[in-house]
Amino acid sequence: MKKSEKLIDLKSLRLEELQNYFVELGASSFRGKQAFNWIYGNLISDFDEMQNLPISLRNQLKDNASINSLRLLSKQGSNSTNTNKYLFETVDGNKIESVIIPEQSRRTLCLSTQVGCPLDCKFCATGLMGYTRNLSTGEIIDQYIQTSKQIYPNEITNIVYMGMGEPLLNYAATEKSLQILLQDLGNKIGRTRITVSTAGIPQNIIKLADSGLRVKLALSLHSCFEEVRNKIMPINVKYSLAENIDALKYYARKTKTKIMFEYTMLHGINDRDEDLNALKKLCSQLPSKVNIIPFNSIAHMISGGFSSELKPTPLARIKEFAEKLMTKDIFVMMRNTQGDDIAAACGQLAIKGKR
Ligand code: SAH
Repeated sequence: MKKSEKLIDLKSLRLEELQNYFVELGASSFRGKQAFNWIYGNLISDFDEMQNLPISLRNQLKDNASINSLRLLSKQGSNSTNTNKYLFETVDGNKIESVIIPEQSRRTLCLSTQVGCPLDCKFCATGLMGYTRNLSTGEIIDQYIQTSKQIYPNEITNIVYMGMGEPLLNYAATEKSLQILLQDLGNKIGRTRITVSTAGIPQNIIKLADSGLRVKLALSLHSCFEEVRNKIMPINVKYSLAENIDALKYYARKTKTKIMFEYTMLHGINDRDEDLNALKKLCSQLPSKVNIIPFNSIAHMISGGFSSELKPTPLARIKEFAEKLMTKDIFVMMRNTQGDDIAAACGQLAIKGKR
């Protein structure tokens, strides 16, 4: 094992755990708070920059701990929007991507929770690259810190767990990363500005509801019909939409938030009038909003099969669908495609030849 793989990753620790770790090293817990401020307040990535820590303690840290679990390999900017995609390498040589989407006064970070994804949704490029492993809490948090550093002096205002992977299949690390962001960082980014997106893992939707974190939750819905969902999202065979809807009702009730339904428009698959009517009916059953998303091309990852048959709904029909869906009770948003020229838009994140 390489030395770097044995090091304690400080960004995987909650503030209290970091303080306890410093006590274990023989320092006072106050030193842990100082280190926390260096890492999250000053975005430092080198122990020698922790100027108010004694040099002996810094040396001890260098031998036992690491600050960055990710190495930034490249940054790619979109020509048409200000979207930037960041490619990172993990300590064990895997690659993941994060995206920063600036819009008006917001700067949204789209972060990854897994290397690849096991779900194999037929419209998603990440699914086509397969699954390698879960990310650690530190690897999730490091995406936030390192992209924050890149856009400094601007700040990230919103976070969406919508990059590579299924956050609710990496539940423990996802929940801990949310605790660090919301509780340890003192609400710098509030819970209403953080969205976790899931293809639907009902037992973990319940867990997240019970966690008390009360972040926004989005379901990748894409069809209200079980048989269509089974085809485009194989995970639906295991966890049906019906089970997920029950879990989402619980989530909405428990957290007093609205569920966001993400709906990527696939021509002939979910854009018919019967789809529209089913979606209206579903929205009437729980507090919700709908996010209509144009289907982004995944041609960069396709090599045939059902995925290659998927076509985007023409823009005129997307608009008509959204307008007909919208009533005084149903709130509909259209997601603009951001960064598709650099394969940074929804569902386009994927690494060819993973390693
Ligand atoms: N696994 C999680 C989070 C990652 S996907 C989930 O499924 O929600 C983030 C969003 O992008 C999801 O709503 C997903 O369905 C959508 N998406 C995936 N591929 C897409 C594509 N090619 N075009 C548009 N949206 C896509």
